[in-house]
Amino acid sequence: MIKTETLSKKRSGPVLFSEYKQGEGVKKALELGRENILFELKSSGLKGRGGAGFPTATKWMLTAASNSDKKFIVCNADEGEPGTFKDRVLLLEYPELVFDGMIIAGYTIGAKNGILYLRGEYEYMLKSLEDYLELLRMDNLLGENIFAGKDFTFDITIRLGSGAYVCGEETALIESLEGYRGEPRNRPPYPVNTGFLGHPTVVNNVETLASVPHILIKGGDWFRTHGTDKSTGSKLFSISGDCKKPGVYELPWGTSINELLNLVEAKNTKAVQVGGASGICLPKSQFNRVLGYEDAATGGSIMIFNESRNMLKILKNFMEFFVEESCGQCTPCRIGNIKLLEGVEKIEKDDFTFSYINNLKELGRTMQAASKCGLGQSSPNSFISILDNFKDEIFGAKRKGEKNV
Ligand code: SF4
Repeated sequence: MIKTETLSKKRSGPVLFSEYKQGEGVKKALELGRENILFELKSSGLKGRGGAGFPTATKWMLTAASNSDKKFIVCNADEGEPGTFKDRVLLLEYPELVFDGMIIAGYTIGAKNGILYLRGEYEYMLKSLEDYLELLRMDNLLGENIFAGKDFTFDITIRLGSGAYVCGEETALIESLEGYRGEPRNRPPYPVNTGFLGHPTVVNNVETLASVPHILIKGGDWFRTHGTDKSTGSKLFSISGDCKKPGVYELPWGTSINELLNLVEAKNTKAVQVGGASGICLPKSQFNRVLGYEDAATGGSIMIFNESRNMLKILKNFMEFFVEESCGQCTPCRIGNIKLLEGVEKIEKDDFTFSYINNLKELGRTMQAASKCGLGQSSPNSFISILDNFKDEIFGAKRKGEKNV
């Protein structure tokens, strides 16, 4: 067992923040064997926690089935969505879960190499994570033939990102790992067949990998007892903004916005941005909606805005972010985000017509359908939801008599 002093765990939660001893999940994985690991994962219903929600078992099965002498596990720790900071907590306070998840993934799909792609802004964690990996090597939990009789060699390296938001997208991340400018690739082929250096690659979010050891120890059916039918298990939420108790919370999927606001002692809440800048902005009338893939989906970012906040300023901030972060590869996103930002600026100056605003919303829907990657597909979400849900505040008296805005 690893001889490191781990931080005393002050957090509690149903899955990730429950008790765990380093190595327990790996031990269980070796007892189960590859097929049973995949079976437990499938029955757990675990989906990618970065936001896309792709079934983890399917990703692992496809990579395991790929015929190649080299395969890779990449842990996506790029955590760039504004308002998201839960992976930071996992890496700082629960590295054993993340690395055990990577080792289990490597064993299951037949990879010898794992890469942790660490957000550039998290460089300050690099040394402690490297030190932790060194301890794992000293304990023979990483390296050559690490488990007697299992013919399993696996090691993990850490690579730093350089600050581009789009590198959270898995193919842009792989481009970045290969030393190229971080731009999303055309898909297919998918990374499960043609990923890092052309080899089958699983790219999983930090939280996804950290969930795996618990699932194997307690079983896929146990995991399903948390959450809802379509959103199984729990989720880490990074809660920020106008509330008394911001922070990272582990809650079952299916928790309503109202419940969450009570928990963090938010008062006079006007709006909740679910899913970061690329998510949707909900008004008070929708606070009964639940967090989950079937309703208000999120990779974990929850931003709370009270009555004192100006919704147009918030929207402008988001759109400036997307103009800055678009990689520029495809037209709907490169030009579309600039046009949406121009629209916000025209509203600020009261220099617009409602047919112009409706055209911009239509442009947003085109971007959602025609952009090449998740950035351009999701960047209009805030624009459309804020203009739809906060019409009275944004358009004020000018809107009187206009029915179609
Ligand atoms: S949608 Fe945006 S970020 Fe994605 S490829 Fe197109 S231009 Fe680049």
